[in-house]
Amino acid sequence: MASIHMQKLVKKYGDLTVIPGIDLQIADHEFVVLVGPSGCGKSTLLRVLAGLETIDGGDLFIGDRKVNTVPPSQRDIAMVFQDYALYPHMTVRQNMAFALEMRGMAGDEIATRVQQAAKLLDIDPYLDRRPKALSGGQRQRVAMGRAIVRDPQVFLFDEPLSNLDAKLRAQVRTEIKALSQTLRTTMVFVTHDQIEAMTMADRIVVMKSGVIQQVGTPEEVYETPANQFVASFIGSPS
Ligand code: ADP
Ligand code: MG
Repeated sequence: MASIHMQKLVKKYGDLTVIPGIDLQIADHEFVVLVGPSGCGKSTLLRVLAGLETIDGGDLFIGDRKVNTVPPSQRDIAMVFQDYALYPHMTVRQNMAFALEMRGMAGDEIATRVQQAAKLLDIDPYLDRRPKALSGGQRQRVAMGRAIVRDPQVFLFDEPLSNLDAKLRAQVRTEIKALSQTLRTTMVFVTHDQIEAMTMADRIVVMKSGVIQQVGTPEEVYETPANQFVASFIGSPS
């Protein structure tokens, strides 16, 4: 069963058509990396999947449910943003608990989930700190923890490593990949970093101006790029 199914999906901002019609299926438990130059519509597509933007045409299915107009909180999806978007006035524990409290989940269930996610991500020593008192890498983990406690079917990552230094980036890359295997969830990971794409993806989706240029395994897009754009973007030998 497909975890995500986009059918002629269209997104416009006023007169600007950012996504003229995307067809893409993402399988259950698949790790898909979406790459393309700045401004090509990667963040827009994630926001559409998350329900943070309305769609202007086509259909979107998550699992076997059509979610075109379903609000974000009811989509079984969690998104990790580039800037982490943590609440500065809340502690790490409160940041992680907030969405669950909004859902009306019982307090002891929330406490258990927060504790488990914090342990998984090695942030349990910081649960009572505020984001300001954390390093970039720790903030990044809190943002992931906030997604994990919701136990979603699908995780969306929008360039989650771009604010980390190169060494930490390599480490967190490995951790996110391992996490996807532990949690057995579907991951859609946006980056403009070709190395991230090549090392993390089951399949890479290469996008240009809101149009998919190629979908394939890292080997396929590297060895047999569909066109010159893909070849130069991925860095295939010519
Ligand atoms: P990427 O994440 O690939 O860099 P974006 O999805 O952020 O690209 O942006 C795609 C295009 O949509 C860009 O031309 C951008 O200027 C435009 N855009 C993004 N968000 C908005 C918005 N809220 N209103 C109008 N235009 C937007
Ligand atoms: Mg973006």
